[in-house]
Amino acid sequence: MRAIVLEGSDVSFRTDNPPPVAADGEVIVRVLRAGICETDLQLMRGYMGFRGVLGHEFVGIAEAGLYAGQRVVGEINCSCWRCGTCAAGRPTHCPNRTTIGIDRHDGAFAEFIAVPQRNLHRVPDPVPTDAAVFTEPLAAAFQIPAQLTVNRTDRVVVLGDGRLGNLCAQVLAGISDRVILIGKHPEKLALLNALGIGTALVGDLQANVAGGIDRADLVVDCTGSETGLPTALQLVRPRGTIVLKTTVAGSQQMPWAPVVIDEVTIVGSRCGPFDRALAALDAGSISVLPLISRRFDLSQGIQALEAARSGGALKVLLDVASP
Ligand SMILES: [Zn+2]
Ligand SMILES: [Zn+2]
Repeated sequence: MRAIVLEGSDVSFRTDNPPPVAADGEVIVRVLRAGICETDLQLMRGYMGFRGVLGHEFVGIAEAGLYAGQRVVGEINCSCWRCGTCAAGRPTHCPNRTTIGIDRHDGAFAEFIAVPQRNLHRVPDPVPTDAAVFTEPLAAAFQIPAQLTVNRTDRVVVLGDGRLGNLCAQVLAGISDRVILIGKHPEKLALLNALGIGTALVGDLQANVAGGIDRADLVVDCTGSETGLPTALQLVRPRGTIVLKTTVAGSQQMPWAPVVIDEVTIVGSRCGPFDRALAALDAGSISVLPLISRRFDLSQGIQALEAARSGGALKVLLDVASP
């Protein structure tokens, strides 16, 4: 079958990749659409040492199982459901897990993918396939209110105007009236302004901090960069909370004393609830289609990855098959 395969730092389009074989409890899904994510670009730089078919954001048609013939999306953590961590209700942290398109499980930049049945969610009929492909990153944004209580009057700052920053700002703006997103790209900030969400450019913000503006109750780092956490620390109030969505490959040096002095809570945050993301897409309460900047056929996947890597693109989609 056709697939985009990563081996070491070498990524290639192949027409002869062997199709996946469904293991016990898995279902073969015929992929319709896939999304390129920052994590895919990190994997290409050696993060996790992944080899195999890339891609973990997808919509497809289940070939068998409970949702046979229907459109599905899939959670990416393939947990063992037998260990103590799974039994304790933390399957996304199963020590025996593999992760679709990220860690020892072939991904979705291919005609077919094998997914555990229990990871699959049916896509509600009104949700377009192009919108459903955002379920995985949108679920990651919904993980923030799943992990901590956010109040209507909390001052919330989201750092980073990329795909995840945009989605986190939209989710949090549904909870707090005081959300502002800080970014570098006026055209990306404009997408949020069109939804009535406040934004600022990084430079303006630093001037404001020097001028002593109110610091935030909650700062969410979606910068994908080493500078995110130090910036977040400048912006958060004493006893405030920083949510880290950024994974930086390699080690990070920074002064930690301000965390102690200001008694700041730092919360790591990763995958989130698919059901909440699908419900929001179904209700139309989150705007995702304007985030699609380019689309390519699967056979043009290498060019698609290049386009995603060039800073301007928000979300690049791969068209794998028509429904
Ligand atoms: Zn992703
Ligand atoms: Zn387990």
